[in-house]
Amino acid sequence: MSETSPRLRAELEGIPTYKPGKPAAADGPVAYKLSSNENPYPPLPGVMESALAAAGSFNRYPDMACTGLMNEIADRFGVPVSHVATGTGSVGVAQQLVQATCGPGDEVIYAWRSFEAYPIIAQVSGATSVKVPLTADEVHDLDAMAEAVTDRTRLIFVCNPNNPTGTVVRRAELERFLDRVPSDVLVVLDEAYIEFIRDVEVPNGIEIYRERPNVAVLRTFSKAYGLAGLRVGFAIAHEPVAAALRKTAVPFGVSQVAQDAAVASLRAEDELMGRVGSLVSERTRVVETLRAQGWTVPETQANFVWLRLGERTADFAAACEKAGVVVRPFPGEGTRATIGETEANDVFLQTAQAFRKEL
Ligand SMILES: *Cc1c(COP(=O)(O)O)cnc(C)c1O
Repeated sequence: MSETSPRLRAELEGIPTYKPGKPAAADGPVAYKLSSNENPYPPLPGVMESALAAAGSFNRYPDMACTGLMNEIADRFGVPVSHVATGTGSVGVAQQLVQATCGPGDEVIYAWRSFEAYPIIAQVSGATSVKVPLTADEVHDLDAMAEAVTDRTRLIFVCNPNNPTGTVVRRAELERFLDRVPSDVLVVLDEAYIEFIRDVEVPNGIEIYRERPNVAVLRTFSKAYGLAGLRVGFAIAHEPVAAALRKTAVPFGVSQVAQDAAVASLRAEDELMGRVGSLVSERTRVVETLRAQGWTVPETQANFVWLRLGERTADFAAACEKAGVVVRPFPGEGTRATIGETEANDVFLQTAQAFRKEL
């Protein structure tokens, strides 16, 4: 018998593992999970009904082409159905975008700190990550990102609003940036939180994609639509890119439960966006209270807030957990806290105030 283990691709060495937000503790006082930017509202009854109805035939494979959902998305956003591609969450679609554009040695540019899935999916494809630091205001440095483009650049992620800082890039600066990017480089606008944006200067990526064949828009049902556990997201992109996404899709990746729940969610948008409105009001309250407590809080347009705590990050996260809210620490950098139920936000704010007094 051979002593050696199966040969694995060298690119996999050192890939950071995706850290899911910690679950709320099962014991102790009432615990709230503010660590994964989830929607705190339970599924809408109508959406639940669609999901349960689909569950009744889970002995069958789902519709591989996601026909019903693709048509619904095309209708809702006013795009040709051939420009839509669905996947197992928008992270799944993002991974397909990298697979479709990058081989070993090709470069993927993104801001840092940004969404922690980007370095992982780049490295899995053997691509090289080019991380461009955020500005001092925690915003994408689009000039520096344009300057980082080389002959090897194949894909650029622009996370708008940015996870974990909540900051946005606005229309004029984004257009200026896109004008500088070569037309054979794909720019992916990751708009996982677009429904939470209230700043009218922030563009809807779908308007930008219409004018620019090298722009793809990434959307998810996980946040505003509240389907995080069902794993369904989509991209809107011009034909060659959307077709490449269909080629790189895992066959039958999106379950019928997810497809039907996503269709039902698009049809229940008014009600869901009412919930988003309540979360946005809570966000205003949380940000204003934190600032009144003396914190520097970057302008957030997402369903979370970012506190740059540096070396105090782990201590702060521990204090939150002790008080009954689980947040998402990035050790040495800062803490991201999701806007959740009012009671959860209250516990978070009380903890922030007590911690502030000790600083
Ligand atoms: C949450 C999030 C997603 C969505 O992930 P899903 O795979 O659709 O659940 C995508 N991009 C960013 C930046 C996110 O924060």
